[in-house]
Amino acid sequence: MTEQYDYLVIGGGSGGIASARRAAEYGAKVAVFEAGAIGGTCVNVGCVPKKVMWNAAHLAEQLKHAEGYGFDKSSNSFDWPTLKHKRDAYIERLNGIYHRNLNNSGVTEIAAHARFIDNNTLEADGKQYTASHILIATGGRPRYPDIEGAELGITSDGFFELEQQPKKVAVVGAGYIATELAGVLQTLGSEVSLLLRKESALRSFDHDIVALVMDSIKASGIEVKTNTQLTKIIQVDSKLNLITDSGDVLSDFDCLIWAIGREPASDQIDIDNTDMQTDNRGFITTDKYQNTNVTGVYAVGDVSGRIELTPVAIAAGRRLSDRLFDKQTDAHLNYDKVASVIFSHPPIGTVGLSEQEAREQYGDDLTIYTSRFVNMYYAVLEEKPPTFCKLICTGADERIVGLHIAGDAADEIIQGFAVAVKMGATKADFDNTVAIHPTAGEELVTLR
Ligand code: FAD
Ligand code: NDP
Repeated sequence: MTEQYDYLVIGGGSGGIASARRAAEYGAKVAVFEAGAIGGTCVNVGCVPKKVMWNAAHLAEQLKHAEGYGFDKSSNSFDWPTLKHKRDAYIERLNGIYHRNLNNSGVTEIAAHARFIDNNTLEADGKQYTASHILIATGGRPRYPDIEGAELGITSDGFFELEQQPKKVAVVGAGYIATELAGVLQTLGSEVSLLLRKESALRSFDHDIVALVMDSIKASGIEVKTNTQLTKIIQVDSKLNLITDSGDVLSDFDCLIWAIGREPASDQIDIDNTDMQTDNRGFITTDKYQNTNVTGVYAVGDVSGRIELTPVAIAAGRRLSDRLFDKQTDAHLNYDKVASVIFSHPPIGTVGLSEQEAREQYGDDLTIYTSRFVNMYYAVLEEKPPTFCKLICTGADERIVGLHIAGDAADEIIQGFAVAVKMGATKADFDNTVAIHPTAGEELVTLR
């Protein structure tokens, strides 16, 4: 017998849960299939445990500075297993909250792997389910390279399983995850090498911001190896030797972390039993309303190949349910000017276009304001790391199309400015805003 619902959601991660609960609020009969831990990537092996580790690293930096502020220098020893234990317990609490929230919203949770039998029917644990609306929110997974010995390395998933802090670590990759994990490990006391296949990390971000962060990464003691690709990994006793494309051997690593991007989890839902289209990398193709090419089937979040961020998956999922179950016929997510933070050391906050993107779009019709300064926090310290911020404006009215900041507190500063940029703020609007002193954020409203 086939069970009938209004809405079936495959994947209990950021996008799936948000969409399911919103639909249930409108009175729809909803079920969510989740094959793993409830909450998906963000809660279990993404944003949340990552931020706990970044907070620990931040604290380590502040302990280093404490003496400069007149504190007695006491033991700064750090116990990785203690933090891991507390982090795991926090995530377990969150898992419980997610189960309760689904239950309170009246969503049926089915702890099983779902797959398509045909365009409008799913199978999970031997049972069949059908609905007029089906959402694919299966997310993604970390990619491994296709080289000999790749399986000797771990990915971000494995990083969160580490019971002990690795002493000597190689991080391969150039995006958010490589930059964040390399920074956390180095700051907590590991000896880190960051292996980049090109000349820099974070190449798609604003070049000036990246230059500052690359300098900071090097100054932190991370060994940065540019234009380096690994061709083979060899285990020697408990250590790893890494062979590069130029024949060098990088030896004696305790741990190798692949952070070379993620692939969509679209290959285990038997898409071949449907008429659904994916792109050549396996991302499910959707229009601006998250419709796939199959009527009544939608995709949101990482599996849809748009911006891979939790709030994006949540926002797309909620708007989809607003459209399907609340007659908000034009509800959809506008993917323009989505702010994000890279929790590097220092963090980067960014919204809108990088200078290179703005030049492509607006040519020379740009006015750019920058400031480089030392945060007052360092006034009494020996160390004087720079903060850098940049406003990219276009047109006679100097509408802001890009805003970027790298430095302490950039992670918290950017959210409020993102509202202004999304609303179409101009440089004059910023100038008309009285500064808050003394802060780092005030630089953005006092740029000349
Ligand atoms: P997911 O959250 O991945 O959820 C998909 C769920 O579907 C999974 O739970 C999976 O088990 C389940 N599933 C898959 N197939 C099936 C099936 N056939 N049947 C049943 N269940 C299935 N984003 C931020 O915004 N800020 C951050 O700081 C941040 N940090 C990150 C750090 C790391 C290390 C990583 C890896 C990611 C980070 N992200 C961050 C990205 C963020 O986690 C993702 O963009 C977000 O989780 C995507 O949500 P989703 O709903 O698309 O998929
Ligand atoms: P990204 O796509 O951000 O970066 C991966 C990078 O690794 C590529 O851009 C590429 O850079 C490099 N790369 C690719 N293949 C190889 C290879 N074979 N060898 C060496 N380097 C390679 O992926 P991530 O895994 O870092 O993160 C996935 C997504 O998760 C992010 O895009 C982001 O949306 C999300 N995320 C968000 C976070 C946040 O909000 N703070 C934190 C973590 C993840 P190049 O071409 O320059 O070599």
